[in-house]
Amino acid sequence: MSAVVIGHMNPDTDSIVSAIAAADLYSKRGVDAIPAAQGAPTPETAFVLDRFGVAAPRIVNDVAGQELFLVDFSDLPQAPAGMDSATVLGIVDHHKLGDVTTSSPLEAWIWPVGCTGTVIKNMYDFYGVEIPPAIAGCILCAILSDTVIFKSPTCTDADKKAVEELARIAGVDDPVALGMEMFRVKSAVDGASMTDLVFRDYKDFDMNGKKVGIGQLEVVDLAMLDDIKNGLREELARVKGEGRHSVFLLLTDIMKEGSEMLIVSDDPSVVESAFGVSCEGDTVWLPGVMSRKKQVVPNFEKAFK
Ligand code: MG
Ligand code: MG
Ligand code: MG
Repeated sequence: MSAVVIGHMNPDTDSIVSAIAAADLYSKRGVDAIPAAQGAPTPETAFVLDRFGVAAPRIVNDVAGQELFLVDFSDLPQAPAGMDSATVLGIVDHHKLGDVTTSSPLEAWIWPVGCTGTVIKNMYDFYGVEIPPAIAGCILCAILSDTVIFKSPTCTDADKKAVEELARIAGVDDPVALGMEMFRVKSAVDGASMTDLVFRDYKDFDMNGKKVGIGQLEVVDLAMLDDIKNGLREELARVKGEGRHSVFLLLTDIMKEGSEMLIVSDDPSVVESAFGVSCEGDTVWLPGVMSRKKQVVPNFEKAFK
């Protein structure tokens, strides 16, 4: 039985591309591994896979009894069903260490960089395995996506160096232009349901015993969302009604480099204590805030303590 390489729930480009790349690398190291994802590609990811002619991984939502490699996460709330009876053989990630545990030693590559793809690029180099050009192109896009074309505070020199080398392998002359093209695809909201948009890049967290959901939409111009903000608010209220203390949606303007946060909470004052801003109503502009992982989750974790 092949080991399953799988990323987090509501898969983004990094979690899908990293599953594909890591499965390729593990296979070339003699470990039988296949890529999987906990859902279909978003329009951004579909654009990337299409651009480089790479197939989407199969969708897997239950991993009971399977051997696993986790990519782009290591916490149980982001994991598929059946983790109790699954065996985690390895983790490649760039988030804080989560609560997944193992009964045997595992191969863990967890680096404080902007993207799991950057870690995998370095794994290929470490094992002396050549990166197929199509996979190099996909990893390059994952890094541009996670680092918001190098603008996110999560971006490191290692991410920039990886993009430079991957661009050469993939034959991409202008990575920034490709990144902008990708973000324009990502910005398109026409035809998507409010549920799709809220969950497109969404994570639930346990904050001091309270269930808190944080979603993010990254667009090249916030004005594109003006017509749908009320619809998004209604959807957030519905999601909160499923048993959450709070649901926040970051509407990130990648050109203005900040986020408007839509707030639905039992206690909106957590936003004031998390960010030191006064907010009236159910929305606040957070200048400079681009990264949920680095600039939002830690602040809320403190505020909920
Ligand atoms: Mg991710
Ligand atoms: Mg990532
Ligand atoms: Mg992201």
